[in-house]
Amino acid sequence: MKLVVIGAGLAGLRACEAARRAGHHGPLVLLGEETHLPYDRPPLSKEFLAAEGADAGDPLLRPAEMIYDELDIDVRTGIRAVGLDAIEKTVAVESGYPPQVDHISYDELVIATGAAARTLPGAEDLTGVLALRTLDDAHAVRGGLEAGANIIVVGAGFIGSEVASAARKRGLPVTIVEALDAPLVRSLGGEVGALCSRLHLENGADLRLGVGVAALTPLVGSVPDDAGRRPVGTVELSDGSSLAADLVVVGVGAAPSTAWLRGSGVKLHDRDGGIVCDGTMGVLHEDGSRLEHVWAAGDVAHWDNPLFDRTMRLEHWTSAAEQGATAARNALTTPDQWKQYTTVPYFWSDWYDTRLQFVGVPQADEILVQHRTDNKGGTVVLYREEDRLVGTLTIGRPDLVMKYRRLIAQKASWFDGVQFGAAAS
Ligand SMILES: Cc1cc2nc3c(=O)[nH]c(=O)nc-3n(C[C@H](O)[C@H](O)[C@H](O)COP(=O)(O)OP(=O)(O)OC[C@H]3O[C@@H](n4cnc5c(N)ncnc54)[C@H](O)[C@@H]3O)c2cc1C
Repeated sequence: MKLVVIGAGLAGLRACEAARRAGHHGPLVLLGEETHLPYDRPPLSKEFLAAEGADAGDPLLRPAEMIYDELDIDVRTGIRAVGLDAIEKTVAVESGYPPQVDHISYDELVIATGAAARTLPGAEDLTGVLALRTLDDAHAVRGGLEAGANIIVVGAGFIGSEVASAARKRGLPVTIVEALDAPLVRSLGGEVGALCSRLHLENGADLRLGVGVAALTPLVGSVPDDAGRRPVGTVELSDGSSLAADLVVVGVGAAPSTAWLRGSGVKLHDRDGGIVCDGTMGVLHEDGSRLEHVWAAGDVAHWDNPLFDRTMRLEHWTSAAEQGATAARNALTTPDQWKQYTTVPYFWSDWYDTRLQFVGVPQADEILVQHRTDNKGGTVVLYREEDRLVGTLTIGRPDLVMKYRRLIAQKASWFDGVQFGAAAS
């Protein structure tokens, strides 16, 4: 039996590892668009950008010899999937320049193509305007920091805020432009937004809230490079002001990499564009039936999480790894052995010297902020939906977060969640 995994990131690699662990001795192909072996993304906006991290190598998820020899994975990098024929059970792939098209057959297929960073209009005509999604992006951003660039971060979400933190830790000036009235206000609430604003301000970032980017303009007097691109010079804001910039890091979110599946019959979620899966990570057909032998995992997958009675798509490390393993194990077994993937979502982010951790879902009827008065300090934020505790954010309290995760997994009541917060230390 031949297992093919598309997307050589975290979910794809974990799918391969789980397949081997489950006793799959047959062909195992891992195909990735990037030219790198699978690497870890969270460090890219954290340690990798730190001055002390400059000598550290690329954060590969596994050493090459383990991937090739021990796991015996047929890794093919620099190859992009461009189409799926789920009836013939083949994937069309493209590589090289000019692109050569080929077809790869499968018995079981796991799609783990992740998400791609969104960008700003006009960015394609400029150099020095970067997203931070890939290892290549991270090398470019780190190069800018090392050169002491004047940095503008667009978007005060998790990745933008981590880049700003890295810049400030190096002593560089940084301006953050955020269209909302506070960082993360839409997802985590107003009080959390205010706490996050304070973190930036206390650490010396220039935070411009409630303004968008009107235009990116090239450096005056610069000449285009061979590709016709000129260096960025200015970020024009929607309030009429403008900021000089050598480096603009755009952190305005990501979209699932599914364009290549259009016309394949794979059902894409009408709101977030993710691949719609059932609870076992099995991919659904546009008509709502199961698309046989096709599975999905990671940032690309929108699946049914029964613990919260809803479908969701996450961009979290832990669930990407776990879904990869679940998808592969299910792909290798019979339907009576398929396991559901159920989780309390977990995400962390490091801002300056503070760790933020979130468990659960932030959709809430009520948000309660508890400033801790014990000797460890920090803040715990609880999210209520009806009479249930559905989410918890901890700021600077890593010792508490997994305790709340267990409570949420047990479907604890709101009352119990609040009481637990009062007692826990
Ligand atoms: C800078 C950064 C920091 C992060 N920090 C945190 C954190 O602190 N905590 C946390 O929980 N999560 C964090 N995340 C999120 C976490 O890294 C992701 O959830 C995780 O990497 C998702 O893994 P994935 O395998 O689903 O997708 P990806 O890691 O995106 O891998 C998908 C791979 O598929 C490839 N691909 C795409 N399309 C095709 C195609 N058509 N053909 C072939 N290959 C294709 C892509 O090139 C990519 O290599 C961070 C993400 C980033 C970018």
